[in-house]
Amino acid sequence: MKTITINQLKDMQISVADTIIENREYLGEIDRKIGDGDHGEGMYVGFSAVKKMLAQNKKYETVSDFYKDMGMALLSSMGGASGVLFASIYISLAEETKDATQLEVNQLIKGYKKAVECIKKRGGASAGDKTMVDALEPAVKAMEKNFSREADFVTILSTATTAAETGVLATKEMVSKHGRSKNLYERTLGFQDAGATSVALIFATMLEYVSEVENNRE
Ligand code: ADP
Ligand code: MG
Repeated sequence: MKTITINQLKDMQISVADTIIENREYLGEIDRKIGDGDHGEGMYVGFSAVKKMLAQNKKYETVSDFYKDMGMALLSSMGGASGVLFASIYISLAEETKDATQLEVNQLIKGYKKAVECIKKRGGASAGDKTMVDALEPAVKAMEKNFSREADFVTILSTATTAAETGVLATKEMVSKHGRSKNLYERTLGFQDAGATSVALIFATMLEYVSEVENNRE
């Protein structure tokens, strides 16, 4: 699978939204241990708005227009620090898919690279600060490393998912420097970051979707 059509992209994002919605409690629990406990709720509200937006069945000419609507749905519904940051993933993807009528592997990688840069700039976090950056940045690096003209979505999203999940585990060893949890210093040790966990869930669901499409073709 080397291209994703706009209809497939919609289906993929419905799956992503469902995963986040299913993990509402789990993400809240993680955030409650070291943050203010609202991450699950925020993500639930944001991705419910995405599902509502998708249910309108609007016709999209470009991948970019689709991602832009998704980013705006998150931005206008979520609020809080992470609302802006998660929305900027999809705004960045929109910027890297201008005029595209299908999504290609290199566009996805470029979009996520832009997203990491944008999130780091906006939020001021670096790698190792115990934030979503610690799942996102390793995922981007892994995708870039494994990219070739032959690379398909299953291969690329599989390396991204593994890297993001490894990144989530690594956040347990980090001391928080941003968000609500930063005032707890060393007390944040041993707990994984909530935003990073969401990032890993998003990659895992995209991988699951493209793997299913691939399997149904055979
Ligand atoms: P809030 O911090 O406003 O309560 P959430 O609980 O929804 O927002 O999200 C918390 C997550 O957001 C953290 O686990 C972290 O991954 C991410 N986050 C918070 N602040 C930053 C930042 N400055 N840079 C990058 N990510 C951040
Ligand atoms: Mg929170």
